[in-house]
Amino acid sequence: MTTPMMLQYQSIKEQAPDAILFFRLGDFYEMFGEDAEVAAPILQIALTGRDAGDGKKVPMCGIPYHAVENYLVKLVRSGHKVAICEQVEDAKASKGIVKRDIIRIVSPGTLTESVAEGSNHYLASVYYSEQWGLAFLDLSTGEFTVFQTPHLDVLLAEIARINPAELLLTPELSKNPKSWVQYYCTVREQTTFKTPAMREHFHSQEGLFTEFPIAAFAATGLWSYLLETMPGVDPTHIVEIKTYRSERWMFLDQWTRRNLELTESLRGIGKKGTLLSVLDATHTAFGGRLLRHWIDKPLLKQDEIEGRLNSIEELIADAFLRKDLQKLLSEVYDLERLMGKVSYGTANAKDLLLLTQTLALLPDISTIITSSTAETLKVKVPKLDGLGSFVENLQKAINPNPPLSLREGNLIKTGYSQEVDELRIISSGGKEWLAQLENAERERTGIRSLKIGYNKVFGYYIEITHANAHLVPGDYQRKQTLSNAERFITPELKEYELKIIGAEEKLKDLEYELLLALREQVRANAKKIISVAQVLAEIDVFVSLAEVAVNNHYVRPQIKTDGQIQITEGRHPVVEKMIEQGTFVPNDTLMSENQHLALITGPNMAGKSTYMRQVALIVLMAHIGSFVPAKKANIALVDRIFTRVGASDDLAAGQSTFMVEMHEVAHILKYASRNSLIILDEIGRGTATYDGLSIAWAVSEHLVQNPQFTPKTLFATHYHELTQLQDNFPGLVNLHVGVKERGEDIVFLHKILPGRADRSYGIQVARLAGLPQELIIRAKALLLELESSEPVHASDKSAEVITQFSLFDVPKVHPLLQEIEKLPLEDMTARQALQYLFDLRERI
Ligand code: ADP
Repeated sequence: MTTPMMLQYQSIKEQAPDAILFFRLGDFYEMFGEDAEVAAPILQIALTGRDAGDGKKVPMCGIPYHAVENYLVKLVRSGHKVAICEQVEDAKASKGIVKRDIIRIVSPGTLTESVAEGSNHYLASVYYSEQWGLAFLDLSTGEFTVFQTPHLDVLLAEIARINPAELLLTPELSKNPKSWVQYYCTVREQTTFKTPAMREHFHSQEGLFTEFPIAAFAATGLWSYLLETMPGVDPTHIVEIKTYRSERWMFLDQWTRRNLELTESLRGIGKKGTLLSVLDATHTAFGGRLLRHWIDKPLLKQDEIEGRLNSIEELIADAFLRKDLQKLLSEVYDLERLMGKVSYGTANAKDLLLLTQTLALLPDISTIITSSTAETLKVKVPKLDGLGSFVENLQKAINPNPPLSLREGNLIKTGYSQEVDELRIISSGGKEWLAQLENAERERTGIRSLKIGYNKVFGYYIEITHANAHLVPGDYQRKQTLSNAERFITPELKEYELKIIGAEEKLKDLEYELLLALREQVRANAKKIISVAQVLAEIDVFVSLAEVAVNNHYVRPQIKTDGQIQITEGRHPVVEKMIEQGTFVPNDTLMSENQHLALITGPNMAGKSTYMRQVALIVLMAHIGSFVPAKKANIALVDRIFTRVGASDDLAAGQSTFMVEMHEVAHILKYASRNSLIILDEIGRGTATYDGLSIAWAVSEHLVQNPQFTPKTLFATHYHELTQLQDNFPGLVNLHVGVKERGEDIVFLHKILPGRADRSYGIQVARLAGLPQELIIRAKALLLELESSEPVHASDKSAEVITQFSLFDVPKVHPLLQEIEKLPLEDMTARQALQYLFDLRERI
């Protein structure tokens, strides 16, 4: 017969068949059967067996409950769901088997443990019905956002931006996996996107359902998943659903975000080498996250941009205010994540203490802002008020050095609760009493080695060595015999023991309950605390941007509506930090509606990409409301920034480089408006020369021939032929990057100059790059012949063949080689031979 416990296990397992079940047994979570077989190797723990009744054994492995977090994170990160099943009644109180229930099902999107600090960790959900709806939630911070768009590519760009840990889909959408292939997807029944629970939770946001109905479906689907996977949790820290509209924020597609290396670098994951890494001098985790959002979502409205610039300017003007705020902000803990823990009931006394310490800084923060001249920051101060007495109460209540566990006592400060104080006196007084008793008994019996001890089985006892056995008084009752001693109890000792142990137990229970009540109070203030966190995050970002502006010599951009971008001595914010200090060559930029297409020629490595990205980044930074790396900058508002840079292979989607390139160009031409900024880096390279040139030519013409369509465009190209376009189109201006020839070599000046480049210096660049000398000589020879229109492969004169043959091709027989072969070397003097060599070099 199967044991009753295994029956209970089976019925619970049926509730979460696709998850690994952590089954709580005393101090362990046990896994059985297939779950154990899957988990043991991942967690690197021993696989054993357990008797399941009828002499059958099931595979089993277990982890200690207090270390659950690490194991949980490991399993979820390796792509598994985990269902956590707890004992939901006190084992002492239950008759028979303790009642158990699943309290949480953890998947990549619902994992709140061990998530990275400065970035968000999203659970997202998509719904489609004529439009696309997207909802995403960071469970650890409570940030919940919805978005709706008619365009699939906009939706996909938005999903790529947030890079969700888990994506919920309807069965219908999951049939077309191509769009979602790179995400961890969970398919949910259609009906779960229509349940009423979310609407009830966010009843004050009824407007959302009429304004963004499709996004609301996505959000509903997400909410129902949440309730299902976290039964019993009341997510109070999720206080509102945010929406954003395209009118307010600049939409950046995934290519642009990637090419400009805004928050992630092209060469790998991580912040290094990104705009974020340069601008991020925040001191709080939520400030770091907010800055990332600002960079991802530049503003479109001038007054909002100016608002941010004003705050930064005030902070730049007042170095003391900045330093004071930095000092206080560095003591601030991640309020949003702490509130997440409070909501999930996982916050311990230490968490509440950190929260209290952080909130206790608010009066100081308010005071220094109020006494400064930072007018725009002062406006925010009232939002930090109102928690005074609540914080005082917490300060009075929580022990400044609490243990991690909530069950061991020592949570509550003396003086907060009379009952706690009394119980504490009894239990600690009890210990004193025991010490006194020990002394008294030593005197009474004359046994100096007499000891009072404690163990779990017998409670308190008096221990006497065998050598002193003859001195034991008659009222001692023997309890235990050890090899060298006897243990006794007395009625007096027993009576006191009950009192002490009773008090200790009661104290622990009471402290636990008081702490839960405090946590409840914190939870009741969730809305206010989250809003405080948001204000602090903003202040932190302003301080950060001001600090960075000062340290890097940025200026305030003048935001214009005249369609002109005029930058004096602009610099690339990231490149200038990566090269030797002071060696970055600043460049000017002037683009207007009359001159809106700049064609940039110049050799590889000259600095074309750097220049174009620099312009894009300065424009973008201005829209974020940040100061910019330049001496002066007038920046016209742009509606979008597009980039098509380099050959970014989209291998996952199985497209060729050229297809990707053309797709991106098509996308730009489709969506760009006269107020957009476009960066094109060498389009047309992925195909044969004439094809590529023709496409680049046609694209340039398209961008410059219609007076109504004047997107500001920077176009770097190797097709020097394109520079002729200037003669026909006044909107086009030729620029090139300065290069100085020094003997055989060239020196890059990194200076953008008017006019076209006369040569491309490809061979010199190859030489600089270290290609073997004989190969360089061969390349030069080929170049000469190509330039004199005498292809080496004379049989086929098509340009395609010329450009595509390999540098490593062996020539049939080069005329020079034939000449050398016939050279009468034996008859030549050394001098003649040398002279010949010199001549030869001249002829190469
Ligand atoms: P291109 O696009 O013309 O091939 P890049 O823009 O990639 O050239 O520049 C190549 C390198 O030259 C950069 O990595 C950088 O180190 C350096 N560089 C570019 N522009 C500048 C500049 N304005 N000042 C100093 N160094 C620069």
